[in-house]
Amino acid sequence: MDQQSPLLGRPARFWKSEGQKGAVACQACFHNCLIPEGHRGFCQSRANHNGMLYALNYGFTGALALDPVEKKPLFHFQPGSMTFSVGAPGCNLTCLGCQNHDLSRPGPAWPGGRYDHGIVFRLGQMAMDNQADSWSFTYSEPTVFLEYAMDLAQEAHASGLPSIWVTNGSMSADLLKALPPAVEAMNVDLKGFTEKFYSEVAGGRLAVVKDNIALALSLGIWVEVTTLLIPGLNDSEGELGELAAFLASLSPDLPWHVSRFFPRHRQSDVPVTSTKSLLAAREIGLSKGLRFVYLGNVAGPGFADTVCPGCGRTLVARNGFLVMKDELAGQDRCSFCRTAIAGRWGRDPSQGQKRLHKLAP
Ligand code: SF4
Repeated sequence: MDQQSPLLGRPARFWKSEGQKGAVACQACFHNCLIPEGHRGFCQSRANHNGMLYALNYGFTGALALDPVEKKPLFHFQPGSMTFSVGAPGCNLTCLGCQNHDLSRPGPAWPGGRYDHGIVFRLGQMAMDNQADSWSFTYSEPTVFLEYAMDLAQEAHASGLPSIWVTNGSMSADLLKALPPAVEAMNVDLKGFTEKFYSEVAGGRLAVVKDNIALALSLGIWVEVTTLLIPGLNDSEGELGELAAFLASLSPDLPWHVSRFFPRHRQSDVPVTSTKSLLAAREIGLSKGLRFVYLGNVAGPGFADTVCPGCGRTLVARNGFLVMKDELAGQDRCSFCRTAIAGRWGRDPSQGQKRLHKLAP
């Protein structure tokens, strides 16, 4: 079979030959899978065929949507704009409460006929038709469909559109360094703040995610962080305090999204996060020096508003994913007290906002 065979996807990036027996070492994420000839890596998305690594999910689009950028969530990056969102099957973590496990772990039959192979050639035109202001690689983990995502991000970059990587932050440093300038923004899941939690609940490593958040910031990528608050597992005052202090030590301007958990997958017996618990987490974040803490998956007054840390004025008001008011349009400081507000506001959000309201029921 040749390298372009549809059964084998495309030649992968970030790997090397290992040993004399045709094994390869994938270098795309912290697993560093050593993959014998004829086998797949942990994520099931990358396979060794004749001593070469292939990305099996190249072009398999398992999820596709035009979303508000607030849904990623990114609140300090082109607020009110729309982002063309793409997800492909596979994941390198095994979260017990995975909200997208049909896509992340599609089962041994994958790849089958379930996904539209070849859609990569139509996506660019669709994004233009829908007037997207950015591309997002999301829903599963872009690290395990990196060739597909990076090719699309390069296409978008060439046409002047930024890309967003919505990630668990468990990629290799080499992959992360290869993302800019095409990838301009990132939302990173920081799922908890103990190695025990990461190992037992997510199948990941906390140290890798912490290092990657710091590296992404140093590379000039706009970063926001999300923590899904799972009752009894990662929501103690001490753990949240350490997590928030870590983020504040990187930058007090780093937005932190604290999200409500809903029972899913193998955590169907865990209760929904209470609003009281979310509000307590927000207070912890602010007390540790973070200037922007948002509550997600929950409705309430001011839960998703961007408030000036200088004078308390509401600069961006949101109702769910809808931007109702944006005083930061085209500027980067409070319109009242002139405090600088960190973010990538440099666009006219009026078009995206108009489109958003048009799409809303
Ligand atoms: S991307 Fe997949 S194959 Fe590569 S190291 Fe990670 S889990 Fe293993």
